[in-house]
Amino acid sequence: MMTLESLSRVADCSATDCAYNHVDVCHAAAVTIAGPSGQAGCVTFVPLTVKGGFDQAAAAVGACQHLECAHNSHLECSAPAIKVGLRGATAADCLTFAPAAG
Ligand code: SF4
Repeated sequence: MMTLESLSRVADCSATDCAYNHVDVCHAAAVTIAGPSGQAGCVTFVPLTVKGGFDQAAAAVGACQHLECAHNSHLECSAPAIKVGLRGATAADCLTFAPAAG
């Protein structure tokens, strides 16, 4: 059973243009994964010239709306950790997304 303590973590993120990204590490407290079906976008991504978030790097996956992912359980992520990467220049995706069988 998932608990707040066992939330999935953002292991690394290559979206270096994001305000929360400090040298490939996400510094947001938590990220939300959402967007259209089949496109697991990190909607916490924000391309700003300032850097934000916490000094500690322990970003959790706070919520995921992609029920069609094999790792999704009750709209939370059950993967131990995810990777996030750029989609073009202006968006980022969860690269750990895996379509559920069937
Ligand atoms: S691995 Fe799947 S369930 Fe976890 S955050 Fe990515 S898309 Fe959502």
